[in-house]
Amino acid sequence: MNKKKDNKSKDKKIWISLISLIVLLAVLIGVTVFLMNDKEKKDENTLAYTDLIKELSYGNIEKVEMTVGSTTIKVKQKNGEEEKTAIVPNTESFIGLVQEKVAEGNQIELIQKPRSVFAQIPAFIISFLPTLIMLALFVMIFKMQGLGEKGKVYDDTERKTKIKFDDVAGLDEEKEELVEIVEFLKKPEKFTKMGAKIPKGVLLYGKPGTGKTLIAKAIAGEADVPFISMSGSEFIEMFAGLGASRVRKLFEKARKLAPCIVFIDEIDAIGSRRSSNSGAETENNQTLNQLLVEMDGFSSEETIIVLAATNRPEMLDKALLRPGRFDRQITIPTPDLKGRLEILKIHAKDKRVADDVNLESIAEDTAGFTGAELANILNEAAIIATKNKHEDIENSDIEEAVKKVTVGIEKRTRVYSEKDKKLTAYHEAGHAVVSRYLPTQTNVKEVSIIPRGVTGGYTMYKSDEDKYYISKTEMQEKLIALLGGRAAEKLVLDDISTGASNDIEVATKIARDMVTKYGMSENLGPIDFQGKEPYEIQMFGENIGDKIGQEVKTLIDTAYHDAQTLLKEHRDKLDSIAETLLQKEKINEEDFKKFF
Ligand code: ADP
Ligand code: MG
Ligand code: ZN
Repeated sequence: MNKKKDNKSKDKKIWISLISLIVLLAVLIGVTVFLMNDKEKKDENTLAYTDLIKELSYGNIEKVEMTVGSTTIKVKQKNGEEEKTAIVPNTESFIGLVQEKVAEGNQIELIQKPRSVFAQIPAFIISFLPTLIMLALFVMIFKMQGLGEKGKVYDDTERKTKIKFDDVAGLDEEKEELVEIVEFLKKPEKFTKMGAKIPKGVLLYGKPGTGKTLIAKAIAGEADVPFISMSGSEFIEMFAGLGASRVRKLFEKARKLAPCIVFIDEIDAIGSRRSSNSGAETENNQTLNQLLVEMDGFSSEETIIVLAATNRPEMLDKALLRPGRFDRQITIPTPDLKGRLEILKIHAKDKRVADDVNLESIAEDTAGFTGAELANILNEAAIIATKNKHEDIENSDIEEAVKKVTVGIEKRTRVYSEKDKKLTAYHEAGHAVVSRYLPTQTNVKEVSIIPRGVTGGYTMYKSDEDKYYISKTEMQEKLIALLGGRAAEKLVLDDISTGASNDIEVATKIARDMVTKYGMSENLGPIDFQGKEPYEIQMFGENIGDKIGQEVKTLIDTAYHDAQTLLKEHRDKLDSIAETLLQKEKINEEDFKKFF
């Protein structure tokens, strides 16, 4: 009920701000026009002081208008139609002159006006007026933004969520762990009577799109308590101290609404390790400190549970993980085969999916995809089906959507030269042929030289059944397959192109991980070098950095060499597949197998 009231007063505030803004703008324009006009008039209608004295002595002046304290005067000449302005060096002596003339019998109307408001303001302020108004405008805009943001935190419509655990597919074990939190929120007394301490904070670790926000909302939905959320990056402010005050406000609200859930997304933005002393860092520390103070502050009777999400747990300040803070941590993994199927099923529910669509096979083809990506695929499929004027979403629409999401949209209209085409054909054929002869590599699903997204062509592999471990041999062979494209270019055209840049990037990362993360280098042994500063790895020997580099290079060189050897050996296959690609642009799994 007070939902409406809150919204109304918020609306009112925004209106007032808007109207003030418009008024300010009008004033700004008015003043600018006024100042400009004034200046123009001056240019056209000024009378030099010497001329003024002459005119005065000739008896040609009819009216003099002066403002106290100003040396700018207005005069009207007898024959002149308009008033002119003049600047007099000394107003008193000028008045004396005029009075002399009047005494001589000249008819001069002398008007002396009191100080004008404008005249009272020093000239430099007037010239700064537009700037001042601009400044005022900026302040206004900032305030309005503040209003908007406050609205977000306090927005009552956001408070209750209808999302339930059933809307979260897979993640069964994680849900099981979180059911307890729901119970805490529903019946805190039950636990406190027993002497149990209610947990304060739960950290959710996981890649973007794995459903962290979704599951946090589901907890609130299951417990039927308000859900207040904010993202860590919103706390990072250019004005020092604002981040901390936002945290304070967030918890003030939470206390009023308790029992409730506070969700802090991207907590790494405020809670990263307090190491250096740069400006931004100090601000973050204030924000982080405030968060710690708030979490330590509320008693367990208040039943506020803080959920936070991050995809970079290693970045977090250890202080956040102490008891009484985020002492529970739950990893939200990318879904496995079963999870993917369930996610696809959930998101297919509200779409017109044809009966013969095989979600199982799509789940099989999408190893490594997150929930968000799978949801996206079905959405893309619906768009593609609409474009294709299909009755329902068909298998082909979904397959097209998978490709669109993974390699980009097909760009049949992109024109490219015969030379480029040949290069692409050999590059892709190179990947495909090489991987065909590598036992650990999966089957080729499709080879194409139709440009998609930013790539000229692509080779798609059958996706792996979900695996927990990858062997060294497998990684070495992956390197060979990745470099097969470049190797074919070199072998056939004796020239190399930029087309392999992504392959090289991926290969380098894999080789580096093999050496520094997985301890797969015989010479360096199973030591974790990843992400360490030079001084940290120095203890493993002198020039250890050089040795790491050397090992990575050896892995890449060997793989490139092996790829070339394989291609030389099977040159006939390479040629015929490249030829076929040039003719047909695409080869599917079945046709590909026929070459061997
Ligand atoms: P995160 O917060 O981890 O980045 P989100 O919770 O924002 O991910 O997920 C984005 C979207 O992806 C969700 O709104 C939902 O549509 C879909 N999604 C992700 N994981 C799942 C899941 N396990 N079950 C159902 N949908 C999911
Ligand atoms: Mg999220
Ligand atoms: Zn390639």
